[in-house]
Amino acid sequence: MAAEKTTGIVLRVIPFSETSCIVTLFTRDFGKITTMAKGARRPKSPFEAALDVLALCRIVFLNKNSDAMGLLTEAKLERRFRSATRSLDRLYAGYYIVELLNSLTDDGDPHPELFELSTQLIQQIDSTEISEDEVGLTLLKYELRMLGFLGHLPMLTKCVSCGREKTTIARVSFGLNAGGILCGSCRGSESNIVSLSPEGLQFLLEIVGGQIGEQSQNSDNWNGQRQELLSVVDNQKLQREIEVRDSFSAETDESPDADNTELMESDATGTEADRCLKEVRRLIHKYITHLLGFQPKLYKFLGNL
Ligand SMILES: [Zn+2]
Repeated sequence: MAAEKTTGIVLRVIPFSETSCIVTLFTRDFGKITTMAKGARRPKSPFEAALDVLALCRIVFLNKNSDAMGLLTEAKLERRFRSATRSLDRLYAGYYIVELLNSLTDDGDPHPELFELSTQLIQQIDSTEISEDEVGLTLLKYELRMLGFLGHLPMLTKCVSCGREKTTIARVSFGLNAGGILCGSCRGSESNIVSLSPEGLQFLLEIVGGQIGEQSQNSDNWNGQRQELLSVVDNQKLQREIEVRDSFSAETDESPDADNTELMESDATGTEADRCLKEVRRLIHKYITHLLGFQPKLYKFLGNL
């Protein structure tokens, strides 16, 4: 029985006896682990109140090799999640991250990059780094990167069934079973289909494409689609820039102020972006529900985000 050191996010604390707790953590080096914390409920606990949901802790635990539960021997608090006292929406967002980590990851299956991403996101939600209005989009980006890290990123650039490229700009069919968009010929033989607007797909491609552009991950699922996504996004961005430029040329003078132009563009796309964000979040929620086989409990509390 080896003593292991790592850092973890507390996902769940269940009272076990008068004095002990069962603690589940998502750790950097060992993935999700469930341990017994003896004496954690005593007034003078050796864990010094580090074991709160969403707290980041440095821990030492005895890793039993069999199926037996590990023994938590030390937990030092690195950062506590404080949003509970400030904002209900931020608290729900934090609990939702916990629910996703709990249900989408397997015991003892480490994903250090997902751990880093999760600690970063929890810190963002818990601080003023992002405004309340940005929490929804931030969660969506997290969901997509998480799906990528876990090998569930949906196919978005061509038919997931036959590989045919998407050529039209009509609404697309997204197969929840198939895990990606479907062409007209393949959608007939698939069930569990959700319809997605062309703007919604574009929005989704930009998020995924942008994120893939920012990082170099080893996951096959990411790399497989990387170049295609980036070229699709580039093409569509170019297309949109041309459209925006054309529509502007009619009403602006010959030397438009650069700042002014930018402002007008973002104003023009504000409402559309909100609509796309809502549509894509609904789609990804359906997709995650399908992957899990049940709907995450926290969805109904995320309505305002
Ligand atoms: Zn097809």
